[in-house]
Amino acid sequence: MEQARAVLASRFGYDAFRPGQEAVVSALLAGRDVLAVMPTGAGKSVCYQVPAVVMEGMALVVSPLVSLMADQVRAVQEAGIRGAYLNSTLTPGQQAEVLRRAAGGAYDLMYVAPERLADPRFAEFARTAQLALVAVDEAHCVSQWGQDFRPSYLSIGDFIASLPVRPPVAALTATATDLVRRDIVRLLGLQDAACTVTGFDRPNLRFAVERREPKQKLARLDEFIDERRAESGIVYCAKRATVEEVCDHLRERGIAATRYHAGLSADERERNQRAFVNDEAPVMVATNAFGMGIDKSNVSYVAHFNMPGSVEAYYQEAGRAGRDGSPAECLLLWCDGDIATGRFFIEQESTHEGLTAEEAEVVRASRRRMLESMVGYCYTTGCLRAYILRYFGEGARDETLPPQGGATEVAPNDDYAVCAPDPRRGRPWSALPTEENPTSSPPKRCCSNCDGEFEAVDVTAEARAIMRCVQALRGRFGKTTVVDVLRGADTESLRQWGLVNLPVYGTSEARRALLMEVVELLAADGYLAITEGKFPLVGFGPRYREAAEPDFALSIKQTPKVRKKGAAAQ
Ligand code: ADP
Repeated sequence: MEQARAVLASRFGYDAFRPGQEAVVSALLAGRDVLAVMPTGAGKSVCYQVPAVVMEGMALVVSPLVSLMADQVRAVQEAGIRGAYLNSTLTPGQQAEVLRRAAGGAYDLMYVAPERLADPRFAEFARTAQLALVAVDEAHCVSQWGQDFRPSYLSIGDFIASLPVRPPVAALTATATDLVRRDIVRLLGLQDAACTVTGFDRPNLRFAVERREPKQKLARLDEFIDERRAESGIVYCAKRATVEEVCDHLRERGIAATRYHAGLSADERERNQRAFVNDEAPVMVATNAFGMGIDKSNVSYVAHFNMPGSVEAYYQEAGRAGRDGSPAECLLLWCDGDIATGRFFIEQESTHEGLTAEEAEVVRASRRRMLESMVGYCYTTGCLRAYILRYFGEGARDETLPPQGGATEVAPNDDYAVCAPDPRRGRPWSALPTEENPTSSPPKRCCSNCDGEFEAVDVTAEARAIMRCVQALRGRFGKTTVVDVLRGADTESLRQWGLVNLPVYGTSEARRALLMEVVELLAADGYLAITEGKFPLVGFGPRYREAAEPDFALSIKQTPKVRKKGAAAQ
């Protein structure tokens, strides 16, 4: 490790390894496989770049980010590391030259896309090359449970197994769910892997959630960006058309914005990405196609114009802010329509190629749970940071990786301990004594909920009424019927079904829209479950019993208080 520390200082100019990096580096140096789960910006690259210098032979880095490889190689070369990449952007002649030089031991590190591993010329090279290690970046792409499944990742396991001398394998990802981690271990064939899960907290990020009517969203975004005109930021939208609309709108307002989504030509994507990274266009408006592997340190805000499909996707995208450790803002604007869009995307995914109907349904069920957690994040009146850390913490604590060729944890997740005080009891982070929170080197900036930027309305009575109604309807009807019955609606269909005779009929005077929201909140919190499909039905969720307990209470967030004009966001 002495040598590794010396390389870290002399080549990269860093005084010390960050949490997690040391565990990964020492495992690799000892010849062990590793699964490293570290949040975006934690410094995963160093984990394989340092061993690449210290160890004999060449480190092979498998990455899906072809468009970034040239930049990555330039960066390692600046650190005096002999790096190369091999991908389809090179001419066949250049590719042959790179392979020839690699065979002669000219490189410490080589980046390749997963598709390359199946190329016979490359396989031939790999059989004779001395490989120090194989690093699989964005390793969650191997799993259908992850956000970015790529079938080409499935060939990595076979490639590794085909090597005559098996080098240690490092799988790196920011995705923490237990299912994805199991898949990584299984599908890459990791053996007795050291599993390191580092803290997911990003103390310099401040989180804010605001519910806005679709018509209000642009005005709110304008206000938010106007407070940060000199800064660089990313605006994520769910759909390509929204990217176009928002980007045009910002440009009309004189903001140097650019755009990125899968509908643009590779050329334009590359150009726009570069313009953003070089600060020529400091605002990037994009779908989730943008950002994997982007290392732009001065992004000081990430605004979501729509609700993403999961807390993981959200945290990964929001985590692109503040990578230099400076204070940064993560704002999520959402409306009811976003939930519908999320559900629509899940349904669409059922056409996933190569999956049996049964498998597709399993994937859909998992996606639904992920979306519910995201909806919960939007609705919660508790600490947003704690909500996120609990989400990842739960995944990380569930140490049930497969026993055969499984993994042992070498660095415990410390976040959960840090974040243990129950945020629902209303103790904001700023009030936490620092002794309790030794990891907060930058002062902890928390969230809009801890800062009280919302109005909570007690909806316990409405929630109880809904639970009673769902019980009476035995999970055979949808949201609209539940609400109609409660409000005593005089409709033909209620009469036809005999629902007007139920004791719960007409027992609530609450607004229709509020009851609809409370149904969603109950579903997000697991008291109710809403099925998918054309006619979603409302039934009981796993926590339904808790709603019958005497201390059950539920509050819902209202549209945030309007800030005074000109008052700067902190
Ligand atoms: P990830 O791949 O985990 O998102 P990167 O490898 O791109 O993160 O690293 C994020 C940033 O952290 C980079 O700017 C990198 O230079 C910096 N960094 C990595 N390791 C250290 C370290 N030990 N000390 C200081 N800065 C570091």
